Amino acid sequence: MNTPDGRDPETPRITHFRYGQTPEPASTPEPEPNIVLAVPHPSALHVRGIVVRCAACDAVRDWLLIQVGAAVFVRCRCTHEWQEHDLGAAEVSEVRLSGPEREWADWDEMYRGLGFDGLLRMTYLG
Ligand SMILES: [Zn+2]
Repeated sequence: MNTPDGRDPETPRITHFRYGQTPEPASTPEPEPNIVLAVPHPSALHVRGIVVRCAACDAVRDWLLIQVGAAVFVRCRCTHEWQEHDLGAAEVSEVRLSGPEREWADWDEMYRGLGFDGLLRMTYLG
């Protein structure tokens, strides 16, 4: 069975994206460089006690948290994206799901695969 985009899911791929992976101790002293975590956050997101609201479409839930190094970005279904300086790796780890991880070849594939490419603009899932 192929993935929705027609690939064989068993084929190993080289990517920096690790989605839904359970954190494990690094096998080498050097942390993996350029790792990007993309973690869906379906419910409302609170930063400094305030509900996060998309400046572009007024959405108040169903986010994608993107961690790039120490920086965390919030992406809306409408594709509006911004860096949230008050979120860090700890907050992303907190909402990370257990279970199999999904790896993506590039940003566009990841956005499409997770439904954050704008196709589901103004749509709440779940
Ligand atoms: Zn939006």
